[in-house]
Amino acid sequence: MICLMMKIIINMRNKIYKIILNELQTLRKQEELYAQKKSDIAFAIPELKECDKAIRLNNFEMVKAEFEGKDTSAFKQNEIELSSMLNKSLLKYGYNYLDFEPQYTCPKCNDTGKIGNTYCECFNSRYLAKVKSIANLEVVAPFTFKDFDASKIFDISQFNFLEETYKKAKIYCKMFSPKKTQNMLLAGPAGTGKTCVASAIANELVNRGFTVIFISSYELFQKMKSCHFSLPEDRDQYLEDFLTVDLLIIDDLGVEPYLNNITEEYLLLIICEREVNCKSTIVTTNLSDQLVEKYGERIAYRLTNQRNTLIRIFEGNDLRSYR
Ligand SMILES: [Zn+2]
Repeated sequence: MICLMMKIIINMRNKIYKIILNELQTLRKQEELYAQKKSDIAFAIPELKECDKAIRLNNFEMVKAEFEGKDTSAFKQNEIELSSMLNKSLLKYGYNYLDFEPQYTCPKCNDTGKIGNTYCECFNSRYLAKVKSIANLEVVAPFTFKDFDASKIFDISQFNFLEETYKKAKIYCKMFSPKKTQNMLLAGPAGTGKTCVASAIANELVNRGFTVIFISSYELFQKMKSCHFSLPEDRDQYLEDFLTVDLLIIDDLGVEPYLNNITEEYLLLIICEREVNCKSTIVTTNLSDQLVEKYGERIAYRLTNQRNTLIRIFEGNDLRSYR
């Protein structure tokens, strides 16, 4: 059995939150540093420096007088005059007071990402952009629900089957929850549209802000291999995202090479851990009856368990020839 430390597993969603908050913090520091630098340069000019010094001194004396219970009206008048003098001098050298304030990207939250206890709009759009960039669907799975064109399917039973499958896929998206296991097994011959359905679901859910990984079984197998040959304490990092992403889609299961102690063990670990954490997994495969033969009963049982898995067996013509 694979040994995982399982101590530092961080949910993918929380990981993204942390990344964005760190990015915002860096942005904020950069802006503050830039404003400070600008101020340092401006107030190195003797005229501005003198004026600034006079204002500070006046303020100090005013606070002192206030503390001692003395009349402060003269200091207040002085403050107005000195400020006006400083403003004129600033203008003379091409500055205004705003130049020394950090220019935050988001004036609503000053680039903190939060307003009170809620996340700011700027945080939410950064989150969505990050989810999309991690899923990388434009490259790995660009097909969306809008791309499904039923007019290109001439076989009536295949037409009906796909229409119904897309309907079910849309319902799946509507009902999707990151806290409930809703698996899907899309099985059948190559080119019958399984990957397109999975891709459409992935795009729909990513656009709604759910975290999704769409990975070919071959690539997943490569990751499992790297994980297996790494130090036990490093293994979590390889698997973390696969265990915690809201939806994991394994495309074309069955085409990857089979390695003893790797393929079955890791696949079982991923599927079981995801079930335990109430996460959903979609698998597309050319195998249907041969699942037990290739992966053993434990995996085949979980992939076809109708208690939490919607199974669609694709048939018919290779749709790729119609394109
Ligand atoms: Zn904001």
